Amino acid sequence: MTALTALSVASEIYPLVKTGGLADVAGALPGALAAHGVSMRSLVPGYPAVLRALSVSEEAHRFADLFGGPARVLVGEGAGLLLFVLDAPHLYERPGGPYAGPDGTDWPDNARRFAALGWVAAELGRGVVPGFAPDLVHAHDWQAGLAPAYLHYGQERRPGTVMTVHNLAFQGQFPAYLLGTLRLPPASYGVDGVEYYGAIGFLKAGLRLADRISTVSPTYADEICTPAGGMGLGGLLRTRAGALTGILNGIDEAVWNPATDPHLARTFDAADIAARAVNKATLQARLGLVADAEAPLFGVISRLAWQKGMDLLLDALPTLLAEGGQLALLGAGEPNLEHGFRAAALAHPGRVGIGVGYDEPLAHLIQGGSDALLVPSRFEPCGLTQLCALRYGALPVVARVGGLADTVIDANEMALAAGVATGFQFAPVTREALEAAIRRAVRLWQDRAAWRLAQRNAMATEVGWERPAGRYAGLYATISNRNRRA
Ligand code: ADP
Repeated sequence: MTALTALSVASEIYPLVKTGGLADVAGALPGALAAHGVSMRSLVPGYPAVLRALSVSEEAHRFADLFGGPARVLVGEGAGLLLFVLDAPHLYERPGGPYAGPDGTDWPDNARRFAALGWVAAELGRGVVPGFAPDLVHAHDWQAGLAPAYLHYGQERRPGTVMTVHNLAFQGQFPAYLLGTLRLPPASYGVDGVEYYGAIGFLKAGLRLADRISTVSPTYADEICTPAGGMGLGGLLRTRAGALTGILNGIDEAVWNPATDPHLARTFDAADIAARAVNKATLQARLGLVADAEAPLFGVISRLAWQKGMDLLLDALPTLLAEGGQLALLGAGEPNLEHGFRAAALAHPGRVGIGVGYDEPLAHLIQGGSDALLVPSRFEPCGLTQLCALRYGALPVVARVGGLADTVIDANEMALAAGVATGFQFAPVTREALEAAIRRAVRLWQDRAAWRLAQRNAMATEVGWERPAGRYAGLYATISNRNRRA
């Protein structure tokens, strides 16, 4: 196997900075790729939390003016990751999240902040740091979308490029007048370049100009080529279908391991599934639910957003309760949904328990203590919570979309007869179909032997990074050095 060197570019990386699944992928992939002969370094913005986490670092390169101020590339290590950190105080030294200030409003200069990330990725790709000449640059999501563009329009050495879409809903669109400010050549402003509906599209640019495109599940790769799923980019993606592939995400099996999880009241494994009962009782107590081992306990860990179908869940709640179920929900997001679930908890004390906010320990306890995990997403590029649920023996009840369709084996009659079911799928994504799936789950719950078999199947599902990392390594091998010009 030939050794490859790759540069990953992402605006978040677990455990240093995370708002969603992108961070998990960016954090896990470098380690998993090592076994496949790929040496990967990651470029991330120097947010305060990232700079604080750097244990050792040294300056690898300096920019006198990077989109409005001086900047440095630091090379170092943080939380076990080999990082290039873009230390640009005028862009990243701020309170709040990676994209928005403390009040939740997007930073007005996000075009510049993430153009800078792409620009520096391209510079590193060209070999500006002595001793580091990557074979390819792997850009994640719109924040890194200009990296393939800068490489494409540059004149020097060009490594191969991969653009990965984690969620097509976030596209990074900015006014056309910024073209010069963002150091994009006039010729780039066209349908075959960065232009997107009269603006500059960061994700569009990456999808148009990268050598290869990937997204995070085979089904989502198909969905984003349709008019409905393409969110404005379907036409472009259809023309590039030959360069597009879907590779499922894995989960970090060290962080999500029911046999060692410090957040569980009781650790367990597939040989000792009955021990989950202790976690169920602890979860019920923690969220004020009635201590009832027999009630099927449905868990949810989710952003509270339209994408996640949380309004459908509120609509289906009467059915879930009528079936004798309980709900343990952890989430944060849209105020009207937060309000809806708070009201439901007040209306059904002991039956609906909620945690509002971001709470990793509680997320682990829900995985280890719920009987089933509900994921009624309207679209879901891959989804991570259902993968964790499989590993923890909480049977996923999922909408048949995107990565949810690719990872859960529905407990239909044939799958049950063959003894391979791992959860429940429903389609279309409606209240009625969700209610029907909840009823099916409760029926299976009543047949404890069948439920236990499905739990064992779920826990045996391969959900780690081994297989996906092999697929990425294969993808990289198709483009490495292809475009080397110097
Ligand atoms: P998305 O990235 O669209 O939010 P994913 O399922 O891909 O959805 O990833 C969500 C990740 O964030 C999972 O690791 C999940 O456990 C975690 N998560 C989501 N909401 C919360 C929360 N309120 N508290 C703790 N962890 C959460």
